[in-house]
Amino acid sequence: MKEQRDIATPSRTREILAKHGFTFKKSLGQNFLTDPNILRKIVAAGDINQETNVIEVGPGIGALTEYLARAAHRVVAFEIDDRLLPVLADTLAPYENVTIVHQDILKAHIDQVLQEQFADDRRPVKVVANLPYYITTPIMMHFLDAKAPIAEMVVMMQKEVADRISAKPGTKAYGSLSIAVQYYMEASIAFIVPKTVFVPQPNVDSAILTLTRRPKPAVTVTNEAAFFALTKAAFLQRRKTFWNNLQSYYGKDEATKAWLQQSLQVAAIDPKRRGETLSLEEFARLSNAMEAGKL
Ligand code: SAM
Repeated sequence: MKEQRDIATPSRTREILAKHGFTFKKSLGQNFLTDPNILRKIVAAGDINQETNVIEVGPGIGALTEYLARAAHRVVAFEIDDRLLPVLADTLAPYENVTIVHQDILKAHIDQVLQEQFADDRRPVKVVANLPYYITTPIMMHFLDAKAPIAEMVVMMQKEVADRISAKPGTKAYGSLSIAVQYYMEASIAFIVPKTVFVPQPNVDSAILTLTRRPKPAVTVTNEAAFFALTKAAFLQRRKTFWNNLQSYYGKDEATKAWLQQSLQVAAIDPKRRGETLSLEEFARLSNAMEAGKL
């Protein structure tokens, strides 16, 4: 395969945009990467090699896709903007291992996609993407909900969201999003990306988050839906105590209060604590106690 000039340099990006008369759509979160060094670091952070298949969300003009195509076995990239299809056909022409799917990633059935695209291929599938920031959380949840497990995700997002996802108990950033993701995946920030490496430049810095699928969820719960509901209830109002939030969510009548008190006691959790101090284990313990003593 003939190596070509990187798409991701500022000059080549300008050339491509001008050649195709492309104008950015802010509503689609279009901020394109123009720094090959960052792309190299993303590929390294994901340990992407010939034994890896990749799903990319939002290839844009192909900056990251090109780096993935060079490193991975196969790349399947979902792009919602039809104006980018002719651009990608042009910029990625040298790469035979890339498939562009014109679809909203949130409408794609991930399990079906894995089946269709990588049917008998035993290589692990990783999600690598510079995510459209307006739907970062829905996209993360969409992949976590897939039955067929995604081995790993290496995703760029606003630094503030990456902080929240990877946050530990007792910190300001810790919340139901941290728990929802950390239940399935181990999350850590690989590195920070300054806003200066994008066109157009976003208002905030970004971070690369690496998420590795746990062999089994971080904690054992008897009812997942009830567990996630409890973690949401705990953070209803951050200034309030856990006890106040529990009552606001589950009810203030005597029977409910007795049930909550009993469950807290069984789980050995002080109701005066704040929700953000509870670990995943503590939430699981309480959720299981609540299920066992259900009204
Ligand atoms: N990967 C490119 C890069 O790093 O330069 C572009 C990243 S840009 C932040 C996000 C891309 O996601 C855009 O190309 C945008 O059109 C696309 N996009 C936005 N919403 C999408 C959706 N729901 N499904 C698939 N792609 C989407």
